[in-house]
Amino acid sequence: MNTVTLGRTGLTVNKNGFGALPIQRIPKEEAVAIVRRALDGGITFFDTARLYSDSEEKLGAALAGRRGEVILATKTPATDAAGFWRDLDASLAALQTDYIDLFQFHNPAFCPKPGDGSGLYEAMLEAREQGKIRFIGLTNHRLHVAREAVESGLYDTLQFPFCYLASPDDLALVESCRQHGVGFIAMKALSGGLIQNSAAAYAFLAQFEGVLPIWGVQRMAELEEFLAYGENPPALTEELQALIERDKLQLAGDFCRGCGYCLPCPAGIEIPNAARMSLMLRRSPPAPWLGEEWQAKMAKIDDCIHCNHCVNHCPYGLDTPKLLHQNYEDYKTFLK
Ligand code: SF4
Ligand code: SF4
Repeated sequence: MNTVTLGRTGLTVNKNGFGALPIQRIPKEEAVAIVRRALDGGITFFDTARLYSDSEEKLGAALAGRRGEVILATKTPATDAAGFWRDLDASLAALQTDYIDLFQFHNPAFCPKPGDGSGLYEAMLEAREQGKIRFIGLTNHRLHVAREAVESGLYDTLQFPFCYLASPDDLALVESCRQHGVGFIAMKALSGGLIQNSAAAYAFLAQFEGVLPIWGVQRMAELEEFLAYGENPPALTEELQALIERDKLQLAGDFCRGCGYCLPCPAGIEIPNAARMSLMLRRSPPAPWLGEEWQAKMAKIDDCIHCNHCVNHCPYGLDTPKLLHQNYEDYKTFLK
């Protein structure tokens, strides 16, 4: 079995991590069956979040009686100590456990530190003292916050987007984690659906010894694919390498990653897909995007009131209204 040790935590887990965001979209029985199959297939690291609606509850139900077999990670978006404790207690209850292995700050706009006035890091320390959590982590989409967390010595793990489209800065961050003994958890290894070849994604990440990819799983077939890769890892062949190079060229520069941090939009625009429609149309079967439902959703782009909420919340610094407009113009050419 391929394994990864998460930096100084010493936690050694299956190289395939389970990302539990998508199970919020499927019925509970299906979610429970998928999580149990993952467990039986050897997956040992499960990552969820307070913000993923009922994901923690489904995970808790699936793991009942088998808690000791897994490493459980969740996240809080709290911005103060009171919110932190509310979230931690709610997560423990939903996950049906009395401890969380890895508790992470969920994409904070700054790197929480002792004495910064927020009380967040002090709450983490107290929770660890009380035995409610074992390790302290941070997730982020902003390079500067991620770097600060790694270099601060305050965090056991970092969760950050990492896939074969990685920039030199992203690669340097992975190396910095290795040097600082910080476990690196890779999210968005399929870049929110833009990467269609999972074998290439898997083979790229397999090169990084200390990196744990978490795969967002919604269907049993997707899970089986990753379990099969665990058994017979795909090699980074010349053919896959060429595909990666082609994707890098096509996806160079500023593009919407579909993370959703810009939501809610007061005009009701579904930004995460609308702002990358041109890519979706060219990189996935276009028919579902061209139906009546998406035509109506794309038409909402005309209702943008230019409030700039999206611009101020996009961790990639995108000019989202402009991107939406460009994508809508391109979309109309497909309709013709
Ligand atoms: S600027 Fe437009 S797209 Fe962005 S949040 Fe405001 S209304 Fe929505
Ligand atoms: S516009 Fe920015 S914040 Fe919104 S989904 Fe795209 S990448 Fe994420």
